[in-house]
Amino acid sequence: MLRTHTCGELRLTDIHKTVTLTGWVQKSRDLGGMTFIDLRDRYGITQLAFNTNWNSDLVEKARSVGREFVLQITGTVIERENKNLMMPTGEIEVKVTTFVVLNSAVTPPFTIEDHTDGGDELRMKYRYLDLRRNTVRQNLELRHKLALETRNYLDSLQFIEVETPVLIKSTPEGARDFVVPSRMNPGEFYALPQSPQTFKQLLMVSGFDRYYQIVKCFRDEDLRADRQPEFTQIDCEMSFVEQEDVLQVFEGMIRHLFKKIKDIDLPPLPRMTYEQAMREYGNDKPDTRFGMKIHDVSSLVKGKNFKVFDDAEVVLAINAEGAAAWTRKQIDELTEWVKRPQIGATGLVYARHNPDGTVKSSVDKFYNDEELSGWAKELNSGTGDLILVLAGPETKTRKAMSELRLEMGNRLGLRNKDTFSCLWVVDFPLLEWNDGDPNLLASLAGRWHAKHHPFTSPKPEDIALLSSNPGAVRANAYDLVINGVEVGGGSIRIHSSELQSKMFEILGFSKEEALKQFGFLMNAFEFGAPPHGGLAFGFDRLCSLLGGADNIRDFIAFPKNNAGRDVMIDAPSEISQEQLHELRLATLPLNKSV
Ligand code: ASP
Repeated sequence: MLRTHTCGELRLTDIHKTVTLTGWVQKSRDLGGMTFIDLRDRYGITQLAFNTNWNSDLVEKARSVGREFVLQITGTVIERENKNLMMPTGEIEVKVTTFVVLNSAVTPPFTIEDHTDGGDELRMKYRYLDLRRNTVRQNLELRHKLALETRNYLDSLQFIEVETPVLIKSTPEGARDFVVPSRMNPGEFYALPQSPQTFKQLLMVSGFDRYYQIVKCFRDEDLRADRQPEFTQIDCEMSFVEQEDVLQVFEGMIRHLFKKIKDIDLPPLPRMTYEQAMREYGNDKPDTRFGMKIHDVSSLVKGKNFKVFDDAEVVLAINAEGAAAWTRKQIDELTEWVKRPQIGATGLVYARHNPDGTVKSSVDKFYNDEELSGWAKELNSGTGDLILVLAGPETKTRKAMSELRLEMGNRLGLRNKDTFSCLWVVDFPLLEWNDGDPNLLASLAGRWHAKHHPFTSPKPEDIALLSSNPGAVRANAYDLVINGVEVGGGSIRIHSSELQSKMFEILGFSKEEALKQFGFLMNAFEFGAPPHGGLAFGFDRLCSLLGGADNIRDFIAFPKNNAGRDVMIDAPSEISQEQLHELRLATLPLNKSV
């Protein structure tokens, strides 16, 4: 080893020891006769001291090193005169006797500090420098610990980790696939897995019984803060289980992770049906850190000659506690906010529950005091609260109200990152009608789409509805939601090839198509498939939640930007005509001289 100690470990108890340290120059201070260098490595920072009285040549040399030079120094640990109790090594320094510049460095494009001056794009371009910063490194340390504890927990319950292939077959169900041309099979393509779903089910047919994998998945979707084209799942599957068993085992895992990573004892996780989540929160991943539930006030407010409400399919309201004091200006600004195209409401009606107990609304012309008190009663508002009302078509208004609720939660400080509210959302619909989801191929529009995926089992009591009323069929499917983020989801699977064929039929596959795409799975089911089920957690999301951040990028060593680009290695990139020709993708004749 080129060092005897790291830059984070020396203390007063090490005084008089001769030590050798290696690391990067965080900064240096030249105080005339004295020069100090902060030497940094993964473990911390140690102050190096140089003094003309000890050795003037060394002071000269110390003055010549720049930020991020790589040094190896040897010296004696001494007690510091000016102690810095904010840092673990702040009571000592090393009186340097020899030092070697292991490598010089050009001036970094941004400061390697917790609060850096580098913008996002610049830090992405020089990600290896960004990774030298404490905050980013700590995020990756958390990620490592989370993976380790996941493995510990699952291993203790006899789960085994099995790797599944990355070059697989394209299936147009689900999101769009990333595809890889095959040189050896001209004109044919592999797809990168959106998840190892079918493989883990096949492993159950093979008798593996309890499988998991911390695995990369790929989806060609539009990107957002919590989405990356490649991301990591904790993917799990179990045999001979019912929904309750899966929920128990993975509730245990979440509890284990919270305890080990945050030292938090989670209470038993509540369950909420999809129907209740949509009704009360307008959303299938409710943020339950705060109440402010959505109330349908249609019957209460209609028929009073207020055309906006009378013409609306639905009128929804929430009660923002303590917001009655909001000024007209604040409410006008909120009205503009709900009218933005992303939210899409046409206007915002409000009612203040005043300190004197009266309720005054922005539509007082149409509603008398008694009627407004009725609003207050329905919403359980008290003095000092503000009732907010949106009206319009059902789906759109519910969605807008869900957004408004979250926004009010933000503005009222109800969404604290250190508070965790976890729950299971259960009883999802099996199918949803696709009227042109931009994340799906256009050819899939105008037909039923599996809400979870096509292998999800309907609730046995709803199977009879499959032909007559597919939209009403509920699935044995569940999501784990934490603070309004869908952290995991899964289902009990279909294990009969007959029911699986029926499902493909409902999803609009012809028999031939279903066989071509998924024949391997249906065949496998004929060789004795056990009842099975499982789920997958978004590992990056779990990291960012536990790390108290919004963006999963901060927890991925080398992430892509919002345009799906890696700006550091500059990918994706064009490939040569020669490569295109080999792959039979060329549109131009090959120029032999290139
Ligand atoms: N494969 C599913 C997903 O990626 C999870 C599961 O059903 O286990 O969402």
